Amino acid sequence: MPIFEYSCEKCGHEFDFLARTHADKPQKCPECGGAKLAKQLSSFAATVKESGGASCSLGSCSTPTCASGGCPFG
Ligand SMILES: [Zn+2]
Repeated sequence: MPIFEYSCEKCGHEFDFLARTHADKPQKCPECGGAKLAKQLSSFAATVKESGGASCSLGSCSTPTCASGGCPFG
């Protein structure tokens, strides 16, 4: 399940939201209850990068596409 990052336009609180369906989204800010929520760019890619080896330089990780320059982590 994808986790999306939202920020509240009212108080600026940022929080992660676990979407159970594609259309699922938070109804209000957990901090102030404000309904104006802005979806942030997903941090999912960054999370994958960290868990897959934070410092891949070209050709140095075990990802099959890494050696050919297509490493998703580099
Ligand atoms: Zn808020």
